[in-house]
Amino acid sequence: MTTDIRHETRDTLLARLAGEPAYRVDQVLGWAWQRRAQSWDEMTNVPKSLRERLAAAWTLGRMDIVRVHGSADTTRKFLWRLPDGAMIESVLIPANPALYGDAADRHTLCVSTQVGCAYGCRFCASGLDGWRRNLAPWEIAGQVLAVERWAATQKPPGTQPPGPAPSERRLVNNLVIMGMGEPMANYDNLMVALRGLNAPWGGGIGARKITLSTSGVVPGIRRLASEPEQFQLAISLHGATDAVRGQIMPINRKYPLHELVAACGEYVSRRGRMITLEYILIEGVNDAPSMAAPLVAIARQLRAKVNLIPYNTVEGLEWRRPSPESCRAFADAVDAAGITTTLRLEKGHDIDAACGQLRLRTGRELAAVPANP
Ligand code: SAH
Ligand code: SF4
Repeated sequence: MTTDIRHETRDTLLARLAGEPAYRVDQVLGWAWQRRAQSWDEMTNVPKSLRERLAAAWTLGRMDIVRVHGSADTTRKFLWRLPDGAMIESVLIPANPALYGDAADRHTLCVSTQVGCAYGCRFCASGLDGWRRNLAPWEIAGQVLAVERWAATQKPPGTQPPGPAPSERRLVNNLVIMGMGEPMANYDNLMVALRGLNAPWGGGIGARKITLSTSGVVPGIRRLASEPEQFQLAISLHGATDAVRGQIMPINRKYPLHELVAACGEYVSRRGRMITLEYILIEGVNDAPSMAAPLVAIARQLRAKVNLIPYNTVEGLEWRRPSPESCRAFADAVDAAGITTTLRLEKGHDIDAACGQLRLRTGRELAAVPANP
């Protein structure tokens, strides 16, 4: 079976293209990654004979934009159609210096790792229709490349030549793996994608600018702890006792809190990196002031920061977002205990909420958009 060229590293490509000079291999990688080529014919400075050789051995998969929602200075959602007709979304969020320390002109992209999700967290739209398939590495990395390609077409009049933007005009410098799917359940493909996105010959995005979020797949956390790259880790905690967490996250039965916290502790001590505990505030479920103490205890043990996210209502699900006052009171209790805490109350800008709502929308879009227009 042919594989996508973006599944190769510079080394494997050099080996497979034995006989070609290294600069040719770098040209091809430059087209595939920095110039986000979607066809071999775009690689105009690569000799035709080599282009034919490439086309015979690899695919250069492309995803097509079905729709872009949103406006220039707020969150934008991209709906992509993959070659098999499956649809996925990515969310582009303007820099939020408070949360991620970005330069103001840069953006965070939230990418999907699976079509659907098998984990069935009760509050989440991504799992509503179950799991369909894993994304291939190029389909994960390709979300970044396709957004960059799209951005290059959004030029202010008269300022940019047409065609793909050169790498120095990159828009996305921060990645969160918080779209549809459970990253740890598609671990190998995700790592191939992230290595390509991270590599100097590839996407050039720093490992510390890439955050994986997991619902608590303990073996995945352990594996990540042993990787050479400094990818960042976020945990979808959402409940600080087994009683609360078990009620909303089925995975808590397989990996209860003591096991999850132990794996996180191992990660923190091996990496020396801070992790983030994500905690959606859901009215009447996990937002009682008494819930702050167990959350504080876990955060303290792990020296973690806490990201509080008011629940984003999902049509068809009965969960509700607490009042701003309740959210604020909860945040104050965690904060008062000396834990670094973020709470963002403004609507639409919430990166996690934006990402957590992908599936429902995608399902609707699937119904509304013909597969071959
Ligand atoms: N499967 C991974 C990554 C994708 S979900 C995980 O669960 O961590 C990204 C984040 O959005 C998770 O923290 C998830 O719990 C959260 N989320 C899901 N639905 C949400 C909603 N309706 N409102 C706010 N956050 C939500
Ligand atoms: Fe899957 Fe994460 Fe949603 Fe849970 S929160 S259903 S793991 S995408």
